Formats: sequence, C-alpha cells, structure tokens
Amino acid sequence: ATPTALLVGTGRGAQLGILVKGPEVLESTRRVDTVVLDKTGTVTTGRLDLVEVLPAAGVTRAELLTVAGAVELGSEHPIAAAVVRGARAEVPVLPEVTGFVNREGLGVTAVLDGRRVTAGRPSLVALPESLDELAAQERRKGRTVVAVAVDDEPLGLLSVTDAVKPTSAQAVRELRALGLRPVLLTGDHQVVAEAVAAEVGIDEVIAGVLPAEKVDVVRRLQAEGRVVAMVGDGVNDAPALATADLGLAMGTGADVAIEAGDLTLVRGDLRVAADAIRLARRTLRTIK
Ligand code: ADP
Ligand code: MG
Repeated sequence: ATPTALLVGTGRGAQLGILVKGPEVLESTRRVDTVVLDKTGTVTTGRLDLVEVLPAAGVTRAELLTVAGAVELGSEHPIAAAVVRGARAEVPVLPEVTGFVNREGLGVTAVLDGRRVTAGRPSLVALPESLDELAAQERRKGRTVVAVAVDDEPLGLLSVTDAVKPTSAQAVRELRALGLRPVLLTGDHQVVAEAVAAEVGIDEVIAGVLPAEKVDVVRRLQAEGRVVAMVGDGVNDAPALATADLGLAMGTGADVAIEAGDLTLVRGDLRVAADAIRLARRTLRTIK
C-alpha cells in the first residue's frame, strides 16, 4: 500500500471527526461485514433517567428510594447515577452504607443498618408475581429494570430509561447500505435490547452478556467467519474493541475504550462509524 494515500485518508478522517490510530488500521476495514454495537452510551445516550418507582406491597416509595439511593452511591454505573439523582429528588439525605461491593454487570450490594441491601438485575432477587409482571411491562417499553432487596426480601423495582441517540437509526441505515450486518450487544435484558433494536432497525440482538463475555461474543462471530467491527464506549467494551478486526471507540467514552480502539469517533455520533468505513474503503480503492 502507498503510505501517502493512506495518510490522505487519515487527514480526511480528522476533518470528519475520526481519529485514526495509525494509517495502517484503515486496511482492516476492507473485509468488515459485521458491526457489533454496544447499546448503552453507543446506540443510546447513556444518560439514564429514573422514570418509575414500584415499591413492593407494604413498602413506601421513600423507603425504596432511600435503600436504592444509598447502595448506588458507591457505583459509577450510569444506572446508579440515574437512581441516585432520582432518589435525592425525594430523599434529600441518603444514609451511608458499609461493605460496598460492585458485582460487575450484575449490580451492587452493601450493608445498611446491619442488613444486606442489593440493587441490580432482577434475576438476582426472587420477585413476587405482581412485580415480575410490572418488570416485564417496563422492559417492553425498552426500559431497564433494577430490583432492590433487603436481606433477600424484595423491596421493589426501579425503572430507568436511556434515550436512543437521535442519529442512531440513520447510522444503522447507512451501515446496512455499506453491506454490513449490525448486531446489538448488551448486558441488559433481551426484551429491553429488542425494544431498542427495533427502534433503530437492528434485528440481531445479543443480550444478557456479562462485561467479561463481550470479548467472547466478538471471538465467536470471528470463528463463524465474520469480519467484525465493534463500536463501544465503556470500560467493559475495551477488550472487545481490541479483539475486533476494527475497534471504533466513542470519543465521549472511557479512556481505556479509546486506547483499545483503532479509531475514535470524536463526537460520539454513530453515523461517523459509517463515514469511517466509507472513507477507509475509498482510500484503499485509491491505492489499488
Ligand atoms: P450494558 O451492557 O448495558 O452497559 P452492564 O453490563 O453494565 O450493561 O450491566 C448489565 C445489567 O446489570 C444492567 O442492565 C443491570 O440490570 C445490572 N446492573 C449493573 N450494574 C448495576 C448497578 N450499579 N445498579 C443496578 N443494576 C446494575
Ligand atoms: Mg456502553
């Protein structure tokens, strides 16, 4: 390949808001046929809002929000930020917990007034049927459901939303027009993932994936013979970005994700992923 032509591609990339780690990375885009898209923070804004507070029978809203807010104070997850903000709006002073444990991709636990409190995936908590049904209803709206428990007794559910970025559906159309198969990848529940996927026009969904397993999904797709581009923003996405044939990191995301990627989409606009692939193909055609 002619280095000069590749460098011209890189310069055009900078104008489009694409930072290319080295001119040689453009070559990896040649055979890419699959684009794996992280959900939270990539397809969606990643700025979540608490929208429903659903206490169990005999529990008050304030009790549920106090426990949830207190335990989530120790977490940096976007779900935690939404829960803490929502809790503080109704419970100005949240109590302090001890023994905080972050269970990556599952939720958080801590000790409050001598009792173990949990907030996380509803599958961690044995829910009564009424709450189970409410959870299913929320998921069908594309909302993520957090279960809260004290000493394994369910205290209730919190429902959070994460809006799809206004440009995501257009980005998916552009990626398809380039002949790429989009896949939505998330640790969230299958039903939530499917609702978000439907909103942006993706029909292949891989959900319920633990953070450490995202890289295995990329490897599995590669083993099936697919050439994989991965777009992500999170600390959890870094190994998958490094393993993918082409890693595209959101410039709005975590530093480790940016370090692991081959390209950075400076503004965090998913349409630029399509621009990047288009640019790389055009640049390579010039060289041939
Ligand atoms: P994503 O792939 O959407 O970034 P994660 O892998 O970080 O999701 O988390 C997967 C699931 O684990 C979440 O949908 C949520 O149910 C649960 N979870 C993770 N962290 C927390 C937390 N701090 N509070 C509540 N639930 C959590
Ligand atoms: Mg993310």
